Amino acid sequence: MRALYPGSFDPLTNGHVDLIERASALFGDVIVAVLCNPSKRPAFSVEERIAQIQASTSHLKGVSVISFDGLSVNCANTHQADLILRGLRAMSDFEYELQIAHTNRSLAETLETVFLATSARHSFLSSSVVKEVARFGGAIDHMVPAEVAKDLNRLFNSAFPPPLK
Ligand code: ADP
Repeated sequence: MRALYPGSFDPLTNGHVDLIERASALFGDVIVAVLCNPSKRPAFSVEERIAQIQASTSHLKGVSVISFDGLSVNCANTHQADLILRGLRAMSDFEYELQIAHTNRSLAETLETVFLATSARHSFLSSSVVKEVARFGGAIDHMVPAEVAKDLNRLFNSAFPPPLK
C-alpha cells in the first residue's frame, strides 16, 4: 500500500517522524508531501523542509519526500496513493481532520483517509510550539530531529529571525 502524508511540516517534529516510522511499517510506501503555500509565510522554504525530512527519515525504507500545492486528493491521485495519512493528537485535532476527511472523500470516493493516534510522549508537540520555544532560546533537542534543531537554532540566532505570528 502507498500512503500520502501531506502537511506543512514547518518544521518536522519528532511527532511527525514517529508517525512516518509507524506508517512505513504498516503500509510499506510513504510519500511525505510538503505543502507549498507561500501565503502562510513559512519559517522554512519548501526546499529546506524537504531536506530536513529526507535527513530525518533516511533510516527508513520506502519513504520519499515531495512538494505539492493545491489539493491533497489531486496529489494522491498523481502519485497513485491508496490512502491519505493524518495524525491525531487530541480531540481538538479531530473535528478539523474529520471535516477535511469528509471533504476529500466527497472529491475522491475511493481514496481513504487513515488516522494514526500520536504516541503519548509526542502528543504535546506542534511545529508552532517548537518554533516558539526555539525563538526564546529554550531546549528543543527532545522535540525535533537533530537536523531540524540545528536549522531552528541558526534561524532564531540570525540577525533577522522571522516575525512573531
Ligand atoms: P498541517 O498539515 O495542518 O499544516 P502539520 O504539518 O503540523 O499540520 O501536520 C501534518 C500532520 O501531522 C497532521 O495530520 C497533524 O495532525 C500531524 N501531526 C502534527 N503534529 C503531530 C504529532 N506531534 N504527533 C503526531 N502527528 C502529528
